[in-house]
Amino acid sequence: MNDVVLKPGKEKSLLRRHPWVYATAVAQAVGRPLAGDTVRVVDSQGNFLAWGAYSPESQIRVRCWSFHESDRIDTGWMAARVADAVSRRASLAARTDAVRLVFGEADALPGFVADRYAGQLVVQFLAAGVERWREALVDALVAATGCGNVYERSDAAAREREGLAARTGVLRGDEPPAEVEIIEDGVRYGVDVIHGHKTGFYLDQRESRKRVAELAALCGPDATILNCFSYTGGFSLAALRAGAAHAVSVDSSADALAMAARNAARNGLAATAFECRVSKVADAQKALAAEGRLFDIVVLDPPKFAPSAHHVDKAARAYKDVNLKGMKLVKPGGYLLTFSCSGAIGVDLFQKIVAGAAIDSREDFVLLERLAAGIDHPMRMTHPEGEYLKGLLLQRV
Ligand code: SAH
Repeated sequence: MNDVVLKPGKEKSLLRRHPWVYATAVAQAVGRPLAGDTVRVVDSQGNFLAWGAYSPESQIRVRCWSFHESDRIDTGWMAARVADAVSRRASLAARTDAVRLVFGEADALPGFVADRYAGQLVVQFLAAGVERWREALVDALVAATGCGNVYERSDAAAREREGLAARTGVLRGDEPPAEVEIIEDGVRYGVDVIHGHKTGFYLDQRESRKRVAELAALCGPDATILNCFSYTGGFSLAALRAGAAHAVSVDSSADALAMAARNAARNGLAATAFECRVSKVADAQKALAAEGRLFDIVVLDPPKFAPSAHHVDKAARAYKDVNLKGMKLVKPGGYLLTFSCSGAIGVDLFQKIVAGAAIDSREDFVLLERLAAGIDHPMRMTHPEGEYLKGLLLQRV
């Protein structure tokens, strides 16, 4: 048996069932485990702490599967975790055919992500342990969903940190179509699972798209929305389908906006109601202010400005700037939905940054709601690092 022996005192986080063992906590790895091997993590006295997967190249040296010594980490265990994860999302089927079915640590499968887009599954293996069990995990996913088309998008940066090369391609079934069509809360979206961001779509913003649709309906038939960092137009489409009159979508990616325009057509929306600007958001915000435009709803959903804790200060300035400029474009009585997907920036800090922007804007905003990802992106209570997306719904008063 491969034992990973911790240094004295380093067992505390595992006793709290935190699933990561850092390289700095390890005294020795007995039996020369290889990447992905199942190891028994023990304290300095040899007492059992957890079963985990060994990853010799990662700072996270072991990712834990289980804290129960009686568990057997085998094909059946993997299949049970996948079946559990899939069944916990069942309630979403009434609203959408696009769901994150497995979300890594939250589902006791560290580094494994599986998304369903209608008849297409897309998976990511982002750690050595799940890489080892890839065939078992894919078989389990096909069995749990009855969906036979699986495409791999293991091309995220996290794989490099694990010493794993990027890999993409068909794992089961057919080559995915150029655009998989999904329907979420009655809105149709095309998803490019081969070239799109992440696995093709921002499933984590489902609840906030719904909120934007509700706000658009509340604002009435003249409602306008400015969707900054729009990607393929999610928030714009949700607002227009709920009755808004006009949407401006801003993104630096021409490809993303081309898909957004196709999505507008897919939903029978007039091209005149769907304005797209291929531009940096900062430039578009400046131009819109110069044009004297104001909007009922402004959405700010930037990419991760802080990839790690080292980047927090610089990222905080960037968030403040984009929020300050965004606030200036909100009509009196209008709404601002502002997000951060930087795990290194917590809810409290993000709220402070946005409050700083509100002060500098010299307008009055009230906080109506905190926003977050839906039930298919849960956070394990013992693994707070799993929470990354946070948002605030403000109203200009
Ligand atoms: N709101 C989107 C997801 C946004 S992801 C949704 O719900 O689907 C972030 C987007 O910001 C990406 O599409 C990326 O192309 C774009 N982007 C990154 N930096 C940018 C910048 N400085 N200006 C404009 N767009 C940018």
